[in-house]
Amino acid sequence: MGGLPVPHEIRAGAFRFKPSAATVSLIETMRILSVNVGGSREVTIKDRAVQTSIYKAPVAGRIAVNRLGLQGDARIEPRTMGPEHHAVYAYPYEHYAHWQRELEHAPFPMGQFGENLTIAGLLEDEVRIGDVLRFGTAVLQVAHPRIPCAKLNARMGLQFSSMFLASRRVGFYLRVLQEGDVGENDNIELLQRDPDSPTLEEFVRITHHEYWDAQGLRRLLQARELMPAWRETIEAKLERALAASGWQGLREFEVVRRDMECADTVSLYLKCIRDRPLAPFRGGQRLTVVLGGRSAHQHRRAYAISSSPCELSTYRITVRRMAAPEASLPDGIVSSRLVAMEIGERLLCTAPHGSPLHDPETCGGRVPVLLSQGLGIAPLLSLLYELEAEPAAAAWLFHESGDHEPRGLLHEARALADRNPDFHMIEAAPETAERAGAELIRRGVPLDRADFRIAGSADFVERWIDELKIAGAEASILVVQRFG
Ligand SMILES: Cc1cc2nc3c(=O)[nH]c(=O)nc-3n(C[C@H](O)[C@H](O)[C@H](O)COP(=O)(O)OP(=O)(O)OC[C@H]3O[C@@H](n4cnc5c(N)ncnc54)[C@H](O)[C@@H]3O)c2cc1C
Repeated sequence: MGGLPVPHEIRAGAFRFKPSAATVSLIETMRILSVNVGGSREVTIKDRAVQTSIYKAPVAGRIAVNRLGLQGDARIEPRTMGPEHHAVYAYPYEHYAHWQRELEHAPFPMGQFGENLTIAGLLEDEVRIGDVLRFGTAVLQVAHPRIPCAKLNARMGLQFSSMFLASRRVGFYLRVLQEGDVGENDNIELLQRDPDSPTLEEFVRITHHEYWDAQGLRRLLQARELMPAWRETIEAKLERALAASGWQGLREFEVVRRDMECADTVSLYLKCIRDRPLAPFRGGQRLTVVLGGRSAHQHRRAYAISSSPCELSTYRITVRRMAAPEASLPDGIVSSRLVAMEIGERLLCTAPHGSPLHDPETCGGRVPVLLSQGLGIAPLLSLLYELEAEPAAAAWLFHESGDHEPRGLLHEARALADRNPDFHMIEAAPETAERAGAELIRRGVPLDRADFRIAGSADFVERWIDELKIAGAEASILVVQRFG
């Protein structure tokens, strides 16, 4: 793993659009590039005929915007949401280049993603719920991001909707505050914005990827212009998150055991002082450790919990000392301190947080296939313990070993594979990992119904994404934690 663990959690590709030189000039002004409408059409989804209005094509001239949408545009009403909250769907043109690259596709025509307005200059990480914007002569308000359904798969191909959601390049629905008309090249003007309202990127991230983050969910509920159906959904998510989460703020913990994993890596077992009970956690969640007391000069760092969610007398974190990139610089502050910590020393921690790596509801019969490298084993080991507690548990763990292996964690992973007939562990040296996709096929890993979790260096993750493409695993689900 090259010694420097700086993981950050990303789901199937980092969100942050970086415009190419060609699109920079387009996004300097906010404007409508194309107005698109379409009729209703029948498609087959899971052997069922359903109506969709996702097929849209550009139209010339000025198009009236009425309270429920664009003139000439068919509406298929979603079951759960008021039609006024999704009257007009806008999608940033900046994302077209991304999808063209990602899908290795020829340029897409405007309206490809089912949007009424293909726009430039307004991206999901700046647009906020409740923004009021003038498009042409109509005044529209941002209602919510698009959460795609299976109809997008019918339009774009199998599994596209999960890629779309994971990328957070989802576009947004608008409600009509003042009717008017729109046309190609109209400017878009921001009339009103509440800077405390969540951005669309935050909204999708918290509702779909960090739905255990009670604080984040609370923040979404502050949005004044949140539509009622979303308010209900978020309140239900918050209730579940609170039921599963621990305390607010920081609690003091004591190191009750330390195991050296290798020369620069230690596993610390942390017990809450005064024997307070620990909050439950899920595989893949983390603790934030705070050094420097409650002072203004504290250092906060995240560490994956590497112990079993079924064992709640201590939390275990596994920390590698982050070496300085050159001799004149200091080593990592927190990791150096933690690696040197002795039994009996104390530190402050948050309750476990972050998205769990496994969701039995969405896993839907798929087989978890966990791919790790170096310290990437830490969150995956805790996930393996969680999977072991499920009925009819099955899992594959592929671990690429390197120079600084966390020996104790690997020993536990092997023991898990030994005692569970349907757990399989493959250990490979980096040189054999080149052909790792083929090796998985040879060993009978069901790539077409796998639920992949990858944790390792950025190189390792990229290599595996390529391997999985070559091995034909596009239909699988992929969640990534990058350490590197
Ligand atoms: C979700 C998540 C999970 C994580 N899980 C784990 C885990 O399980 N185990 C683990 O070990 N880590 C984990 N991390 C990483 C961890 O949070 C810390 O980032 C890591 O320990 C380094 O923190 P530090 O305080 O030691 O380093 P810092 O003090 O933040 O230093 C970082 C690097 O910068 C270098 N540096 C210092 N000064 C300079 C300078 N002036 N110029 C250039 N470089 C400089 C340091 O030498 C060091 O290499 C995780 C991170 C995340 C986000």
